[in-house]
Amino acid sequence: MTWSAIVLTLFPEMFPGPLGHSLAGRALDAGVWRLKTVDIRAFARDKHASVDDTPFGGGAGMVMRADVVSDAIHAAWDRRGPLIHLSPRGRPLTQRRAAALAGGPGPTLLCGRYEGIDQRLLDAWAPEEVSLGDFVLSGGEPAALALLDACVRLLPGVAGKAESVREESFESGLLEYPHYTRPAVWAGRAAPEVLLSGHHCNIRAWRQARAEDITRTRRPDLWARRAENEDRRR
Ligand code: SAH
Repeated sequence: MTWSAIVLTLFPEMFPGPLGHSLAGRALDAGVWRLKTVDIRAFARDKHASVDDTPFGGGAGMVMRADVVSDAIHAAWDRRGPLIHLSPRGRPLTQRRAAALAGGPGPTLLCGRYEGIDQRLLDAWAPEEVSLGDFVLSGGEPAALALLDACVRLLPGVAGKAESVREESFESGLLEYPHYTRPAVWAGRAAPEVLLSGHHCNIRAWRQARAEDITRTRRPDLWARRAENEDRRR
């Protein structure tokens, strides 16, 4: 079965957006993966097609209605893959989760807008909640695009070489080493000599050392977790 994502959104025109370009876009055109959008507004019940209302208890903003969103989920979610609500309250997205999703049939993504969705909808459907990070977006759509991008580039036949995906940041618990290309000297700055040496063993060692330095200095949290994992393996 082709890997297929479904996105429930009030703004279907935002898709495929950036995913219609470059590697993901070519793969979409080639049928390597599929993307279906479902317009939540099509499930509105009144003549004004309202999908949101003022919050009980008062306060700023609007809340997406449980009844409308629930009908959209009923119609759209085939239950093959997980139902995921993009939310700042969710578990932060990781490379590991993206890889697991890429290995499945494809997720159904629920995008909130305004203040978010009526809590009863979330209680009733109990979607997995995934956050892009500790900041607030104005809607779930950019988060859905980012999540899909992270998954799609891992699908077989999307990225050029399997190694280019395997060697990347997070795959080994490390951030990636730095990259260089022609010209060999630019603005008085020479690319590291070892990379031009053709000595693959030295190149590999240099890259590993740089990846370790970068991870240790920039992300002590990742570095500590890696050390823990290594202890466990011993
Ligand atoms: N009032 C909410 C924020 C609502 S933002 C709060 O303070 O928690 C509107 C929508 O954007 C949310 O329903 C969610 O779908 C999406 N969103 C906002 N920030 C996000 C993040 N960091 N990750 C994933 N989705 C996010």
